[in-house]
Amino acid sequence: MIKNEDFKSEAYSFIDWISGYFNHVENFPVRSQVNYGDIKKRLPEHPPYSGEPIEAIFNDFKNVIIPGVTHWQSPRNFAYFPANSSIPSVLAEILTAALGVQAMKWITSPAATELEEVVMDWLRQMIDLPEKFKGVIYDTASIASLSAVVAARERITGFKSNSFGTGKLPLRYYCSSETHSSIDKAIRIAGIGSENLVKVGTDIKYGMDPDQLEKSIKKDLGNNLLPTCIIATIGTTGTCAIDPVGEIAEIAKKYKVWLHIDAAFAGSALVLPEFRKEIHGLENADSIVFNPHKWMFTNFDCSVFFIKDRNHLQKTFSMVPEYLKTPDANEASDYSNWSLQLGRRFRSLKLWFVIRNFGVDEIKERIREHINLAIYFEQLINNHKDFELVVSRNLAVVCFRYHPEPVSEKNDLNKLNFSLLETINKTGKAYLSHTVIDDKFTLRFVCAQTNTKKTHVTEAFNTIVNCSKQID
Ligand SMILES: *Cc1c(COP(=O)(O)O)cnc(C)c1O
Repeated sequence: MIKNEDFKSEAYSFIDWISGYFNHVENFPVRSQVNYGDIKKRLPEHPPYSGEPIEAIFNDFKNVIIPGVTHWQSPRNFAYFPANSSIPSVLAEILTAALGVQAMKWITSPAATELEEVVMDWLRQMIDLPEKFKGVIYDTASIASLSAVVAARERITGFKSNSFGTGKLPLRYYCSSETHSSIDKAIRIAGIGSENLVKVGTDIKYGMDPDQLEKSIKKDLGNNLLPTCIIATIGTTGTCAIDPVGEIAEIAKKYKVWLHIDAAFAGSALVLPEFRKEIHGLENADSIVFNPHKWMFTNFDCSVFFIKDRNHLQKTFSMVPEYLKTPDANEASDYSNWSLQLGRRFRSLKLWFVIRNFGVDEIKERIREHINLAIYFEQLINNHKDFELVVSRNLAVVCFRYHPEPVSEKNDLNKLNFSLLETINKTGKAYLSHTVIDDKFTLRFVCAQTNTKKTHVTEAFNTIVNCSKQID
């Protein structure tokens, strides 16, 4: 195995490679062009019995692994939601790996816990949440929402369902039909049962319809069911729709129901005062999650969860077996009592580097720039006779489709757009993903990669137009 004295020279060659990667990432095909099995068949079936030099492994990384990598850091990546990184984030991640710290309890690395408290409070200020909200960093929004679903379950049962189970308790949860599948999963895992997740209909902009929500709650109360929690979304995965949080919060208050807000992607935009103006009642939520690993330039994984009353979370998750008892016992600051997992990565370090090195103003500017680029792309679509918006743009997300005239049947358009998407992605020049809106196969253009500039958007549009000519 490599020795400490060789670390430097090896590491320098890694840093050289990474620096080159950052400079040339946009030259790679964005979506990996391999087929299933291509990578595996180039890897040995059995582990090596004697150690191999780092150079050999590194060479295989470059020659075998990289061709099978989809380049999320390419400014030509417009698929899904981004998984953004940035230089300060990567630098911090190197340090995190070197320290290899377990941030489960305060004593297991006091700086990890205290930095997390401070950075989470910075973020709280950046999105203008009241001081009573406290924060914790999770790996993903899925885990944050599961934590909210379970904490809501505990609160309504007087913190008894952890001990006695949910049995036949008629707990009811509400979300819109556009809600992310992580909520469906959370409901299953938490023992609530999918049948008790009420999917409320949406308005024409695909935000939750608050009147239907209230009707569902009233109906459930009439049937002796127990309304427990509403999950509202700021930025749905399909179209980036925004549920009317203000009205939903009033309903949550009226019926004493937990309000969880899933803002996994769009939450980063809450740093913009002009966006916050559009969202009312955020302060009335019980919990909020968003992912700096999506739109705040912090490499995966980094999902931040704010909770108004941290006791609810701690009463739900606190477990202190003998081997975890410490003389300093200050359970409130032991972050393992805030979530499912015991072991925790030192994630606050990269967020600290990002916020300090960018500065809040630059973070805002990048997000604004992304939204402006999406506006520009929206105009390109609107001005081209063969393309149309399927819904109007939300933040940095444009949903559109190819619609040449004449077209006979609806199904043809779906097939046409399906092949258009594959044709675009096979070029490697741009990467887009899709959604289905009212039975329409729709292309999603998410313009939020850290380094995306206007030229990338223009080139992507030209690629899309050229590809549409090939499939006619
Ligand atoms: C991406 C996304 C999620 C899931 O995020 P993970 O961090 O990957 O679990 C949940 N909800 C919404 C609205 C999302 O966009």
